[in-house]
Amino acid sequence: MAISWPLLEEEATRILKRCAPCQAFPVRIVAMELIPVFRGQRMFIAFTQTQLDRIVRPYIADAPPGRFVAIVYDRAKIEEWGIDDDALRRHWVALQCHEYAHAIELRFETDYLRRELPAGTVEHDATGLAAGANVDPQQMTAKEREEWEDLSFHSHDDRFVRVALHLAHRAETFCKTGRITPGMVCSTTPGRSHPDRYAAELGDEPARRIADPFAAIMASDPPTAFSELFERDKKRREIPLAQSEKQPCPN
Ligand SMILES: [Zn+2]
Repeated sequence: MAISWPLLEEEATRILKRCAPCQAFPVRIVAMELIPVFRGQRMFIAFTQTQLDRIVRPYIADAPPGRFVAIVYDRAKIEEWGIDDDALRRHWVALQCHEYAHAIELRFETDYLRRELPAGTVEHDATGLAAGANVDPQQMTAKEREEWEDLSFHSHDDRFVRVALHLAHRAETFCKTGRITPGMVCSTTPGRSHPDRYAAELGDEPARRIADPFAAIMASDPPTAFSELFERDKKRREIPLAQSEKQPCPN
C-alpha cells in the first residue's frame, strides 16, 4: 500500500503530544524535501535542532505563530526500508520518538526556545546544518568517522536513552502502536551498550512514572545501575586507540 505521509505525520504528532503533554511547545514534523537547504542530503533519516523551527517556517503552511519543535525527515530514505505497513508504522513512531527525545533531553523548551538569539543565527545554523547533512557517510575519512562516532556517542548518552525509553513505553501504552523495542527508539551507537541492556537497568521506571512530566523525571536520578552502565561504556570508549591496540592478542 502507498504510504500516506500526511497521515503518518499527523498521527506521530498526536502521539508525541499524548506522550509528553506537559511540553509547552507544539511539534511539527516536516518532509526534508520541502526545505531547499536540505534537499539531496545524504546523512540523516531524520533530525531535530534548536533553530530548525526558524529554518523550516517559511516552507510550511501550518507553522504555529511562536517557536516550536521541528523534526525533519527524509521520505526517500524511509521508502528504502521496504518493510510492511505495520512494521513501517512502528519504526516511524520510534523514529519520531527518537527525535523528540533529543528535543526533551536537550531542554529545547527551557534553555533554547525561550531565548532571544543574535541576528544571523538562523542563517548561520541553517548553513552549518546543511553542511553536516550533506556529508556523505561513505566518503568520510577515518578521522571524520571517529569524530562523528564521538559526537553520536555523546548525543545519545544516558540522559537521551532514558527519555527515549520513556517515550516508547508511553507510545505503546497510550497509543496502541504495537511493540517499539529499545533498539528501534534508541538506535545502536558505536561504543554504547545495546539499548536492551539500558532498558533492563531502567527497569519499571517508565511504567512507574508514566504520568510524570519529563522535567520531573530529568530532575531526578535514574536507577544507579542504569547510570553505571553508561559510565562503564564511557570509560571503555575513552581508552585511547593506541593503548587498546597494545593489549596482547588472546588468540
Ligand atoms: Zn539521534
